[in-house]
Amino acid sequence: MLQVKNVTFGYTKTKVLNAIDFNVEAGENIAIIGESGSGKSTLLKLIYGEYDLKHGQIYWKDEEILGPKHNLVIGYDFMKYVTQEFDLMPFTTVEENISKYLSRFYPEDKQKRTEELIKVVELEAFAKTKVKLLSGGQKQRVAIARALAKEPEILLLDEPFSHIDNFQKQGLRRNVFNYLKVKNITCIVATHDRNDALGFADQIIVLNNAEIIAKDTPQNLYKNPKLPLIASFFGEFNVIEPYGIVYANQVKIVPKSQLKAIVKMAYFNGNSWLIEAKYNTISIFIEHDFELKKEKIIYIEISK
Ligand code: ADP
Ligand code: MG
Repeated sequence: MLQVKNVTFGYTKTKVLNAIDFNVEAGENIAIIGESGSGKSTLLKLIYGEYDLKHGQIYWKDEEILGPKHNLVIGYDFMKYVTQEFDLMPFTTVEENISKYLSRFYPEDKQKRTEELIKVVELEAFAKTKVKLLSGGQKQRVAIARALAKEPEILLLDEPFSHIDNFQKQGLRRNVFNYLKVKNITCIVATHDRNDALGFADQIIVLNNAEIIAKDTPQNLYKNPKLPLIASFFGEFNVIEPYGIVYANQVKIVPKSQLKAIVKMAYFNGNSWLIEAKYNTISIFIEHDFELKKEKIIYIEISK
């Protein structure tokens, strides 16, 4: 189990993290979400042991994670960290970048394991390509495969799929997260992309103003977002009194009701249209099956 115990940290006098306290069970997938600058990367760096802690402690099982004051080399064998600035060896091939970390394996096992990892990140066609010739997204895949090479007990991922295009993201996510579950590797993912968290995280931790403002399953957070900040992670939403936070797909257009609104815009959204309408003095967003003309009068119902 990973234990983060009452950690307070700042690079300067300003607190970036304040009284952060949570546990992660072995094999769990935890997503850390929050706005840019909310301290997600800092939290991962602290878990990795990149900085010394003045307040609080972090443990993996019985071992305390210690910073550079106590460790000549940062990091621990049981933990891998894929940073936002994955640093690879540019002049060697994808294969070599990954297998370099398998020096203690027999050559045959090494080859097999390298191939397995290349398959997880779907880079079969680039195995013999030099890393400097790869795109940002491909490099990101190599960094993930390399982190998995020695099967860490715990993996820290910082915005792991941010450079990968949408065509390939979903499949790759499933591959990587399913692989981690099969191998029972504990995973902590910092992300601002809901798709990294919704279908894969056991728990989501929401960071805001240096603190954890929520920790719950994706389902519970979605169903009951206590704050607009949390709802915004899941999609378009409104704050309509007396109902509170209402997602765009919870507003229905009906033939007649007490709630009248006027259409202002319609945005095509693939499966549906996002209708922007004026309701009393506010703008509201409604998910609707088809386009509506501007200035049309509509009646709405809220079904939470
Ligand atoms: P996130 O990953 O959520 O975007 P970060 O953890 O990178 O947030 O940053 C949190 C805050 O700490 C930001 O205000 C950022 O400017 C500051 N910060 C991050 N790294 C450093 C650093 N090495 N030195 C000083 N301030 C930093
Ligand atoms: Mg970050």
